[in-house]
Amino acid sequence: MPEGDTIHRTANVLRRALAGRIVTAFEVVAPRMSSDAARFDVIGSVVRAVESNGKHLLITFARGDDDVVLHTHMKMTGAWHVYRPSERWWSPRSDARVVITTDEFVAPCFRPPVVEMMTTREIAFHAVLPDLGPDIIRDEFDEDEAVRRLRASPPERDIASALLDQRTISGIGNVFKCEALFLERVSPWAKVTDLDDATLRRLVAQARKLMRLNRDGGERRTRFALNAAEGMWVDERTGLPCHVCGTSVAWGYHPNEFRKSWYCPQCQNVTWAPTTAADIGRLSAEVRGPAGARDASGAASRSSRTPEQRPSASRPDRPR
Ligand SMILES: [Zn+2]
Repeated sequence: MPEGDTIHRTANVLRRALAGRIVTAFEVVAPRMSSDAARFDVIGSVVRAVESNGKHLLITFARGDDDVVLHTHMKMTGAWHVYRPSERWWSPRSDARVVITTDEFVAPCFRPPVVEMMTTREIAFHAVLPDLGPDIIRDEFDEDEAVRRLRASPPERDIASALLDQRTISGIGNVFKCEALFLERVSPWAKVTDLDDATLRRLVAQARKLMRLNRDGGERRTRFALNAAEGMWVDERTGLPCHVCGTSVAWGYHPNEFRKSWYCPQCQNVTWAPTTAADIGRLSAEVRGPAGARDASGAASRSSRTPEQRPSASRPDRPR
């Protein structure tokens, strides 16, 4: 599954292959496209920039003062490849939703769930892109801003869900979330409000370290043991003994989040975690509390609510 480390690497490969080159052919299947972008003829333009932010990849084509940006988001299924014009592709052509061709390279994108085209000016009005948090893998990552955004999370949200929110920090995927929480011995179900700044900083720094260690490719790993098959601490290790204490690794769900957390009950001090829909229903009801009001997306409440206004009386018991 692509995470921020993969997309960062993809952007580097695409940049080396495409940046500064003239596009000689361009195919795109069913993009979401603004009318200004639709008027722009990509063929004959120059690839001006290839950038990633978290799991979003942006390729800018320019001609004079005009430009158009191709936005692809890989989610679980998408992948960019780069080939020489005569090379055979590793995936069927029918799976390609975008193909960028230059004299030197051909870059197809297979099965991306999101393909959009808009001008640079229009990006400011995009529903997601302007709100992305600082990109954790970049050299110029702003840790203070990341901690500030974590603090601004809806107060009832748990740290695992907060770390995955791309508007808080861009680029952390589920693997690095689970591994950073384990290495810092924090329960995935701990509320952000119950963690101090030093702990948030340690978590962010740990996730960043692990992702930067993995950005150059190869087998993704967070644990550097002799046996490469044991390259993870807890992620997807259900029932296997913890590498630190021997307790069986377990997993649990989170409210409004389809990705699970794997954890060590002993090392991370978790005595209960939701593993059924009924558990989640119960936890969500507790999280909503007597006041009841919660914006599921968190977006509106987050921007309007300051820490002083946070309802503290309805804080649920956290699973231990
Ligand atoms: Zn353990």
